[in-house]
Amino acid sequence: MCFMMTGCKYIANAHPKRFANIAHPAAIGLVLVGTVLFFSLEMFYILPMIYDPNGLFFKIAWLIALFIVYNFLGNMLACHRTSSAVTSLPKDRQIPSPEEEHLWHFCDHCQMLVPPRSWHCKLCKCCILRRDHHCIFTATCIGHNNYRYFFWFTMYMLIGSFLSLATHIHLLLINEDMRRQYVILHIAHIIMVIKPTSSEAIALNISFIFNLYACILPLIMLGYQIPALYLNTTFYTLNDRSYNQGLRRNFMAFMGKRGLCTFFSPHIRSPLPHDGTQWQTKPPSSTV
Ligand SMILES: [Zn+2]
Ligand SMILES: [Zn+2]
Repeated sequence: MCFMMTGCKYIANAHPKRFANIAHPAAIGLVLVGTVLFFSLEMFYILPMIYDPNGLFFKIAWLIALFIVYNFLGNMLACHRTSSAVTSLPKDRQIPSPEEEHLWHFCDHCQMLVPPRSWHCKLCKCCILRRDHHCIFTATCIGHNNYRYFFWFTMYMLIGSFLSLATHIHLLLINEDMRRQYVILHIAHIIMVIKPTSSEAIALNISFIFNLYACILPLIMLGYQIPALYLNTTFYTLNDRSYNQGLRRNFMAFMGKRGLCTFFSPHIRSPLPHDGTQWQTKPPSSTV
């Protein structure tokens, strides 16, 4: 994974335009096609084999699945559409006040002073407020204004993938006929010549293996993002604790004033405590 990220970073730095033109459509296409395929397979094929289609559990499973897909795709879209660029600030906030000027730094690419924690992105061609990293799955930089959407997008990817995997495993546990269809459970058969019994068996095996990978990707992403959220830092500065204001304040700085309520919908308004230009480096003595 580190090798892949280093490789992607090298290509993105060397050929930013070509990288964006190829990586963005490919990554977004993978997410959308994967969502449609997993959802269809789970809801129309696997779930009816586990629960009675007229029963309560079946209906509850449908509601949960729709809630997850709505939040997954809704946060992905909101993340893409919400700009964290320095140029998204009101014009008068793109220039530092005399008291703040010593904290801002000059960007050679943008040819302007930018606020603390803002860094330039070659793919977005601008400086990003509290830049975290560039995400190819949302085709945008993750920063001060859209971090909330990125975090829940990743979290719902993980929840959806795990529930999908759990449904597969549930089917295996209760249905012996289906268990025989899963090649992955019969490694010895893989060494010999595999003779797929049906196209359904092939689809189930492929989706099971992809499902395993689909769980790993958001797990790795959250493995970086949860410490970053906990310490009020970023993907590239995980050891920097200078902005740590305590868990509650850090969470509000990333998610907005509604905090955990943002889990329920990307449409819930949750204003951020400031515009991303002013960052305290020490906890306020009166409250922490
Ligand atoms: Zn810049
Ligand atoms: Zn970017």
